[in-house]
Amino acid sequence: MAQQLSLQSWAARFQLLPKAELHLHLEGTMEPATVVALAGKYGDLLTEGAVAARYAARDFPAFIEAYKWVTSYLRAPADYALVARRMCEQLLAQNVVYAEITLSVGVMLLRKQDVAANFAAICEAAAPYQHRGLRLQWIFDAVRQFGPAAAWEVARCAADLRGAGVIAFGMGGDELALPAAQFRDVYEYAAAHGLHRLVHAGEIGGPDSVRDAVEILGAERIGHGIASAADPALMPLLAARSIGLELCPTSNLCTGALARHLGRPNAHTDARPDSGNDARLAEHPLPRLFRAGIPISISTDDPAMFGTTLNAEYGALEQMGLSGEEILRISEGAFRGAFLPLEDKMAFVKSFRAQAAPLGLL
Ligand SMILES: [Zn+2]
Repeated sequence: MAQQLSLQSWAARFQLLPKAELHLHLEGTMEPATVVALAGKYGDLLTEGAVAARYAARDFPAFIEAYKWVTSYLRAPADYALVARRMCEQLLAQNVVYAEITLSVGVMLLRKQDVAANFAAICEAAAPYQHRGLRLQWIFDAVRQFGPAAAWEVARCAADLRGAGVIAFGMGGDELALPAAQFRDVYEYAAAHGLHRLVHAGEIGGPDSVRDAVEILGAERIGHGIASAADPALMPLLAARSIGLELCPTSNLCTGALARHLGRPNAHTDARPDSGNDARLAEHPLPRLFRAGIPISISTDDPAMFGTTLNAEYGALEQMGLSGEEILRISEGAFRGAFLPLEDKMAFVKSFRAQAAPLGLL
């Protein structure tokens, strides 16, 4: 029946479905109005237009710079609480019922902040949304280019707060900066303390970066991993081991990551639309990765910075040529890929299917 739906009708119906999001950075949800408010608190008078201009960066180094800049206004637990509240509102507006939120604890520690106090404020801010049907769990992320010693501190914080809702240890930042082997011990520590293991890999790096994340660090899901499509031996490995890829299509356009993988020579310096180096959604490897049997999910990554929403990402799947039935499988698969007890996952899947059926999507 799904095949009979028109594109518009499908997109409209999808808005109503409950959704899970697995790759979302709290710091990337700061809308320009929020940045203006926080900057004003610290004496910087900004306009929303100025924030939007910073967010309009279209290559990876500029994205990292914008990320550093915007997080510089997160200075106190109350600042994190404000951003968490607004993120929860954004998630509910997308009908997200479950999300795993990444916190850049590596950045908090670099700025000598009290991680436990920040996390307590975030959890307190998010708690009322649980009653409105939004369940959240948390991922503590290290920054790869800060090195192994800093990553150790993040992992220790994650282990300390595991009972308070932290479920995983991850690593983001510049994946080309340092090899995975330098973080092997940190990941072993995280696993020994009951944390799931995540790695941003194969975003701007090649297939070997994904392979190292799996083989050396024991990654259970990969952030991005689009480079996997270039390695015919890697895709079956990911499929056989059920290593999920958290795909963020719009992010890959905005950071120039996709253009890099497509061999556009100047994508690392300027991948803006019409620069001649940009990539298009239709060129994204997502359909190939999905059809190779890899459990994929889709996410927004840093939605405020990339001007996207989860519903827009699902709309992007249609632009990539996926059928309604395939998109539904991807949507349901996000719940299956969650770091939740099996019975909780199945309860979400059951609810998802119950709501999809009357919409004519099953
Ligand atoms: Zn990310």
